[in-house]
Amino acid sequence: MTDVSKAGTGATRRSVQYVIDPTRAGPMKRSLEHMLFTRRCPTCRSRLEKEAAAPNAATQIQEIAGCCGKAEDFIKPEMPLMEIVFRTVLAGGNRPIGLEELHQALTDTFATPMVPRNLSIEALRTILTRDDFYCLTELKQVSQ
Ligand SMILES: [Zn+2]
Repeated sequence: MTDVSKAGTGATRRSVQYVIDPTRAGPMKRSLEHMLFTRRCPTCRSRLEKEAAAPNAATQIQEIAGCCGKAEDFIKPEMPLMEIVFRTVLAGGNRPIGLEELHQALTDTFATPMVPRNLSIEALRTILTRDDFYCLTELKQVSQ
């Protein structure tokens, strides 16, 4: 598999990146494990249902990147904006993802004539900053 994120993006501004921070799930009184579980593929779900407890968030994120996130219908254009962001980060194994990359996913990769998304990068950043549901955290990169 080609890692498009690393190819030909030399000119891309990478000032702001995002990751899912499992430690944010606690104070928000929401189980990230459960949120992840509901996004697993049918095969994984039936396997996990036989186990006593859902694997922890880090393990599930790893498994989603290696399995569920590869399914063609893991991300659909008609999903809500933040759901697409969440799933994009999951499919990438929760490696830090740039604001521009998320913007492109929303306005290009997962946009269709039926679901156009006209939002600026700054508007997207505002939405991401306000998120308190998906445990997304903004990382500020120190310029090198
Ligand atoms: Zn799976």
